[in-house]
Amino acid sequence: MSTDRDIKSTPRGFHCILCDVKLPNLPSLDQHVKGKKHQTLSTVRATRQSQAERGVFVTGVKPDTSEADLADYFQRFGEVAHIVLDKDKGQFAIVHFAEPETVQAALSCVEHRMKNLKLKVKPREKKAFKFIHKQKLDPQNLQQVFEQLKPELGELLSVDAQMQFVVERFQLRENEKKARSLFVQLLQEVFVEFFPDSQILPFGSSVNTFGIHACDLDLFLDLENTKMFQARAKSSTEQTGEGMSDDGRSEDSILSDIDLSSASSAEVLELVATILKRCVPSVQRVHVVSTARLPVVKFHHRELNLQGDITINNKLAVRNTRFLQLCTGMENRLRPLVFTIRCWAKQKQLAGNPSGAGPLLNNYALTLLVIFYLQNCDPPVLPTVNHLKDMACEEEECVIEGWNCTFPTQPIAVPPSTNTQNLSTLLAGFFSFYASFDFTSSVISLREGRAIPITDFLCQDEESDMIQDEGPIKAHPTKPKLGPLNLLDPFEVSHNVAANLNERSHRSFQRECQEAHKYCRSLQYQQKSTKGKLWGLVRLLTPQGENSQTRAEQTSISIPFKLASLPETLREQLQTSGEDFWHLWFHKVCSAVEEVLTHVLKCQLTASPCAVFADDSTVAAEEMETSSASLKSSVNDSFDSVGSQSESSPLKPVVGGKRPLSSGSDASVSPQGKKQRLLKKKAKAQLPPWICVLQHLVWAGRRKVRRELMKNTNSQPEGSCLEIESQVTAYIIEKEPELKEPLEFKVLPQMMGGTESTQTVLRLEPVSDRTGVFQDFFHFLHPFLPRMVETLLGKDEGNEK
Ligand code: ATP
Ligand code: MG
Repeated sequence: MSTDRDIKSTPRGFHCILCDVKLPNLPSLDQHVKGKKHQTLSTVRATRQSQAERGVFVTGVKPDTSEADLADYFQRFGEVAHIVLDKDKGQFAIVHFAEPETVQAALSCVEHRMKNLKLKVKPREKKAFKFIHKQKLDPQNLQQVFEQLKPELGELLSVDAQMQFVVERFQLRENEKKARSLFVQLLQEVFVEFFPDSQILPFGSSVNTFGIHACDLDLFLDLENTKMFQARAKSSTEQTGEGMSDDGRSEDSILSDIDLSSASSAEVLELVATILKRCVPSVQRVHVVSTARLPVVKFHHRELNLQGDITINNKLAVRNTRFLQLCTGMENRLRPLVFTIRCWAKQKQLAGNPSGAGPLLNNYALTLLVIFYLQNCDPPVLPTVNHLKDMACEEEECVIEGWNCTFPTQPIAVPPSTNTQNLSTLLAGFFSFYASFDFTSSVISLREGRAIPITDFLCQDEESDMIQDEGPIKAHPTKPKLGPLNLLDPFEVSHNVAANLNERSHRSFQRECQEAHKYCRSLQYQQKSTKGKLWGLVRLLTPQGENSQTRAEQTSISIPFKLASLPETLREQLQTSGEDFWHLWFHKVCSAVEEVLTHVLKCQLTASPCAVFADDSTVAAEEMETSSASLKSSVNDSFDSVGSQSESSPLKPVVGGKRPLSSGSDASVSPQGKKQRLLKKKAKAQLPPWICVLQHLVWAGRRKVRRELMKNTNSQPEGSCLEIESQVTAYIIEKEPELKEPLEFKVLPQMMGGTESTQTVLRLEPVSDRTGVFQDFFHFLHPFLPRMVETLLGKDEGNEK
């Protein structure tokens, strides 16, 4: 039963592929092959193979089709041994016959009609038997769960069906919901003993309709009424002079230890932690995290295997959970979209900070991104939050901490969307939307359903005006903390819910959207593969190949914007150009990079992005206005050509999309048909690449050559002098032989960054590297290029070192 192909010899012994076991020598191999595991697996494999040979795959069945119906029908071809029905959806069945020959009889029948159903009968796909280690499945380990679901997912007929399947398989089960609800009841009973009139309210994924199997339990302990109770008790004690409150609670209650009106959150949470430890069975690992934005008590419930968080002062979260529930109620395509996108983001390591804190998106932020996208579809799938506010009636008015949180209680109050796009199109649209979204110059507002220019947030006065117009009833002077991705909370509109993201995680998010967008345009996404290849969601949700991500990172060179190290004249030029300063800076950097490539390293350029710049790099200060404008339009032109892939997007033009730049703040038609201000486009540019050819190993032995050349002069650090570096290259070219095959590579310049971390990123890719020297060259260039660019930018002032 065991075959030779199961055993492979390796440098360290043998590997049994069937059992995935490594064996150091022949005796151990021998023992293993005779052992129970190997024998059992061999038998299982043989049984499966024989079953596969005797089975047919049947589609066209309905959820009410029974095994008996199928057995009855297929009996006519030969004895039916066994039937497997897809119980969840009733979309397919596998019929096993007693004899393999019967399969042929069933397959050769041209038409299968069973009762009123037209069935399709196909041979079973031949899949290699693979042993999966019987690890204990961690339901939160998406990768593991996904691996298990892949075969079933691949069998479904459309992306829409796959998305629904993801929801069914990942969502919180009814029994989990029930257990959680009972646990919350228990907590309520316990806490009310210590904090009279308090309320414990679940929020977050447990109840917002987007919870996945085994997600955490977020709880809000509302002590508002307890505070009032305490105040009443205090005044009655003062009046009667007795240590007993009006409802008979004695003064040795836990409440007498703490004055809720003046206690800090940390103090109250310490108390909550003590109650949890002492009074709630099965609760363990209780601790207070007082450093979080909202201090929290964390705990674990042993029997339910549940991670829980209790916060106080968190009414807004309960309200935004209600909002998410309303969105699901209004639009039944939202859940499959959010589940799929949450899965995708987790698989691509874009979301889900393991300890709660970290630079990745959290699920709340990701869900808001989906909603914002749906608000911007054409026609919109979901209304803006302001629109919802207008649809609410008077009794539904709700203000929390000064923020207007009004929206209708019932989804029925909201007219249904006229958008009829299917799930697969909407999912592809999400990726296309964010693939070309101009994060650098926009702040995402679900309240308004549009991207607000970032410049509105740089000036305190303008910003508070804007917030007072659209947001809270009381003025909140604080500005959102701006970062590479700015996503305003729909209610607490001065809070950027994605403020934790760093440049890198934002870049990964957009890059993965671009990748997914590309994939969604392929047939592989849209159509089930007839050859058993990965298709649709199966490929989209395949985990980020660690290598490909790091490879992209590893072949990028970043040149950060460092105002302090720029010479005075350039600083003045930048200042004069105001908010367009980055166009000019990017232009300067690109020109400097080109100079390094051509003059210092003697690359031959066959294409150059600098050709798109209208003027040269030495723009005089007085010419700045015009040069900045012409540079801006040239950069935008080239960006448009890059962005033209998204032409088929079902969306209206958005910030950063394909649209010629007019006088600045022109308008586009919003989903609701009202005019919107389109942001002034910034040069969030991705220019065409330089195509370079190198004939020599100009990096090899540079240090030694430099030392030689500078023997009689003061030594200078590498990259600090243009002349010397050019001489070093010339020397190497003269002395060393040419490469057998020239190295051809692309350098793709891109300007990244928000308000704080503007940088030019140069992506390098080999085009032709037959001699395998690209990696070495890249390692040399990685520190060398930024140093040389800095030197060249400094040269503007005539202070070449
Ligand atoms: P999961 O726990 O499955 O990751 P979740 O939706 O519960 O998903 P959490 O990060 O646990 O997400 O957040 C729980 C709730 O806390 C959210 O539903 C939201 O109400 C609130 N919340 C989370 N992050 C933020 C944030 N950055 N800003 C404002 N509120 C937030
Ligand atoms: Mg949660």
